[in-house]
Amino acid sequence: QATDRRGPMSYAYDDQNIFAKILRGEIPNRTVLETEHCLAFHDIAPQAPVHVLVIPKGPYVNADHFGAEASAGELADFQRTIARVAAETGVAESAGGEGYRLIANSGVNGVQEVPHYHVHMLGGRGLGRMLA
Ligand code: ADP
Repeated sequence: QATDRRGPMSYAYDDQNIFAKILRGEIPNRTVLETEHCLAFHDIAPQAPVHVLVIPKGPYVNADHFGAEASAGELADFQRTIARVAAETGVAESAGGEGYRLIANSGVNGVQEVPHYHVHMLGGRGLGRMLA
């Protein structure tokens, strides 16, 4: 019962994806901040005045892969990085901003284009209701 055909074997990481190339320094990026386990950089096609991508440096495909296999240190660093990006870009209410939205697309239904786990942080404008 513990083994499903769509279990851990489905986490196949493609090290030729564009964020892997960014992490290896093969493609430039506009870095917001970097930590031991994470990189935050501006999205190349921003959908809002603030549009930052936060990614773990480890080879994780999506949120469930990251949540299942990352270390406690990586998990903590990721969430702390999100907080720092919100503060440093000024969107956090604690930084005098008006808030933001986090989005993590996964798979076909989520329309994930880049198969390296990333959270979009969008802010700087009203984003409207997403869930009806
Ligand atoms: P979607 O494109 O449907 O939002 P993702 O959630 O996988 O799919 O998001 C990938 C994001 O990566 C897009 O917002 C895209 O603009 C961004 N992107 C693609 N290439 C680069 C790059 N070289 N530098 C920064 N952002 C990039």
